[in-house]
Amino acid sequence: MKTIFFSTKPYDKTFFNTHNSSHQLQLEFLETHLGPHIVNAVDEGTFAVCVFVNDRLTEEVIRVLAGKGVKVIALRCAGFNNVDLEAARAHGIRVCRVPAYSPEAVAEHAVAMLLTLNRKTHKAYNRVREQNFSLNGLLGFNLHGKTVSVIGTGKIGKAFCKIMLGFGCKVLAYDIVRDETLEAAGVVYSDFETLLRHADILSLHCPLTPESRYLINEQSLQGMKSGVTIINTSRGALINTNDAINALKTGHIAYLGIDVYEQEEKLFFKDLSGSIIEDDTIQRLMSFPNVLVTGHQAFFTNEALDEIAATTLDNIAKLSRGKEPDKSRILV
Ligand code: NAD
Repeated sequence: MKTIFFSTKPYDKTFFNTHNSSHQLQLEFLETHLGPHIVNAVDEGTFAVCVFVNDRLTEEVIRVLAGKGVKVIALRCAGFNNVDLEAARAHGIRVCRVPAYSPEAVAEHAVAMLLTLNRKTHKAYNRVREQNFSLNGLLGFNLHGKTVSVIGTGKIGKAFCKIMLGFGCKVLAYDIVRDETLEAAGVVYSDFETLLRHADILSLHCPLTPESRYLINEQSLQGMKSGVTIINTSRGALINTNDAINALKTGHIAYLGIDVYEQEEKLFFKDLSGSIIEDDTIQRLMSFPNVLVTGHQAFFTNEALDEIAATTLDNIAKLSRGKEPDKSRILV
């Protein structure tokens, strides 16, 4: 029973091979994305394909996988906006994921982005290496006492809220579901418009769904204070990038930190140094001194990769023996 891994990097092999010693599953690692260009190469009788955030599992891809006898799509991530779940259901393919591998890893990266932007440590690092110890242009602002608005208080948003409370921030939250433990800790839930209006800092932690696509757009930006800081470690298309660029040009957005980008699949997780980047939008974003871009690395800690490998292999092993993984890990 073979599992083919797509979009793999050397670190994936290291963590998965280590954790496979207790399962002895047959694993094959491919570097390519899974998509229409490669799906025909999947061997007949392959039990599972293991995919990551930028593999595209459209109806067309899923139909071919089903024809090859593939039984399981194992996501080695939490988000699943890149899989057509209805198509998987229709073709009898099970879909599993890793719902919580280390919410703190992502929450802490969001905080790291915020602290980099508000204290300009990325500029200070380069400046000091050039023996320039001047402080001109490095003026920051305190987080203490600021209003931090959080959209989505699931596992990652909750961890982020707790850290921000520890900084002495006022934390406002918007979610379809209220978390009573957060309310008890001091987080105040509000409607979307109130949350936007009061935000000094806005951090996005909801999934990408048809409802949340372009949640941050020209109109919602107009409802925010001028000088707002926005952090997105969730999914790129939560923000309409062109609207954000316009707001950066006028200073309405004072700082933007993004670990995710709508068109990231052509760029992220690749070393493109020395190449011509054809995406003018990311080039424009990276030209702003007050924009910080990281390449979808919020999840990238030892603890998270350990948990991802352990849970993903457990999901595949259980399904291969006809057993059910925990409900939270099963999408179809
Ligand atoms: P989660 O399911 O625990 O929490 C998501 C929360 O968002 C839930 O409380 C849900 O009710 C809420 N929500 C859903 N739709 C909403 C909407 N339209 N408006 C407001 N709230 C809404 O998920 P999580 O583990 O906290 O992960 C959140 C997201 O983070 C994932 O969907 C994924 O896109 C992203 N993520 C990014 C990385 C990274 O490396 N950058 C890693 C893991 C996850």
